[in-house]
Amino acid sequence: MEIIKHIDEMQKRQEAVRLKGKKIAFVPTMGFLHKGHESLLVEGRKRADDLVLSIFVNPTQFAQNEDLSTYPKNIEGDLAIAERNGVDAVFLPDNTEVYRGGHQTYVNLENLPNYLCGLSRPGHFRGVATVVSKLFNIVKPHVAVFGQKDFQQLAIIRQMTKDLNFDIEIVGIPTLREHDGLAMSSRNSYLNAEQRQTALCLIKSLQNALDLVKNGETNPEEIIRYSSEIIASYPETSVDYLAICDPVSLETVSVISGPVLFAMAVKVGSTRLIDNMIIEP
Ligand code: AMP
Repeated sequence: MEIIKHIDEMQKRQEAVRLKGKKIAFVPTMGFLHKGHESLLVEGRKRADDLVLSIFVNPTQFAQNEDLSTYPKNIEGDLAIAERNGVDAVFLPDNTEVYRGGHQTYVNLENLPNYLCGLSRPGHFRGVATVVSKLFNIVKPHVAVFGQKDFQQLAIIRQMTKDLNFDIEIVGIPTLREHDGLAMSSRNSYLNAEQRQTALCLIKSLQNALDLVKNGETNPEEIIRYSSEIIASYPETSVDYLAICDPVSLETVSVISGPVLFAMAVKVGSTRLIDNMIIEP
């Protein structure tokens, strides 16, 4: 497995792989890998001859008050996971390599960032779209794999890929969960034992919403009201947002008459957790 820190070296490698007629799959991450990331690598491995993983904690997608400086790291563990999953090359740049002095180009989408996480994290998706565009130009993949856990991010990357004519297939992978339903996340490592139990309020309220809709509830406000109650019954929680929306446009729906996205961000202590599910009547 190659470990590459520089952009020009990575681009040369990728060009050579393409010239050999090989298909390249790419999994971008911020590291501290868990089984959810592994499921992306497994999918990438199946779909291509050459599998590239990137590990880069992208500063432009963090606001001043967020956890950029404390984001968990375990490079050795990540490399072992990469090796075990048949990764051919790991792109491991530092900040100054990715954002060289004088960087001034950013990728902005008009509509999709104006909902859900985009409202509570202004500028976040500008950072995401920018770094993913840069990584696409560095890694030159044929297929790129992302998790549905970051549903809005996946929607934004699909739209950006289409709008900017990246010749890349975008694949979305279902959220991998712990045995008790908590969505796997690098940020779960911030939770103490009690908060880890409290974090189940997200999956509990999603499951409750599924049941309500199965039993005929079509009013999103009712579901959100019930979910807020569930979350408030746990200690140390505060709701950032609960939203039931169209899975394509992300616009709020007023009646549930087809598949909808139920997405949420909840703070447990100071840790912000997100989760979502598609719910169908
Ligand atoms: P991150 O390192 O958190 O930026 O995530 C890198 C990629 O892994 C993104 O495409 C995420 O959506 C995906 N991912 C994170 N957690 C999970 C999970 N529990 N199941 C599946 N994919 C995930």
